[in-house]
Amino acid sequence: MNASEIKNPIFPKGEKAPADYFTGTAWVRLLVPNDKILNTQIGNVLFEPGARNNWHTHPGGQILIVTHGVGYYQEKGKSIQVIREGDVVTIAPDLEHWHGASPDTEFTHIAINSNTQNGIVTWLQRVTDAEYNKL
Ligand code: MN
Repeated sequence: MNASEIKNPIFPKGEKAPADYFTGTAWVRLLVPNDKILNTQIGNVLFEPGARNNWHTHPGGQILIVTHGVGYYQEKGKSIQVIREGDVVTIAPDLEHWHGASPDTEFTHIAINSNTQNGIVTWLQRVTDAEYNKL
C-alpha cells in the first residue's frame, strides 16, 4: 500500500476514469450532475501515482480544488506546476491543459465545471511520458 493513500476519503472512489482520456488509473465520483439552472457540474477525481488525464479544454472553464496529495498541472506552452492539498486552480475557458498525480503520490481534487451550457470538456491528445517526465 502506498504511504500516501487516503485511509478515510471524504467521498467514495467512484468509477474508473475512461482509458481513452486518462493514462494510468484514476477514479471519478460525480458529486453534482450537470445542473441546467446553475450550469455547473462537480466531480471528485482521485489519481493513482503517475496517472494523468489527456490534454483537454473546457469550453466553460474549470476550477480545481486540491484535497489530497501532490499533483501536476500544466498549461500549453508553460512548465508543469506542482500543486498540493489546499491549492485552487482557476482554468479559463478553452485553455489547453492537463492535470494528474505526481509520479510517487496519490492525488485528489474536486473539479468544478462552470458554464456547462457552453460544453464540459473537449479531449485532445495523450500526455506523453516525455511531457510528463519533463519536470
Ligand atoms: Mn481540466
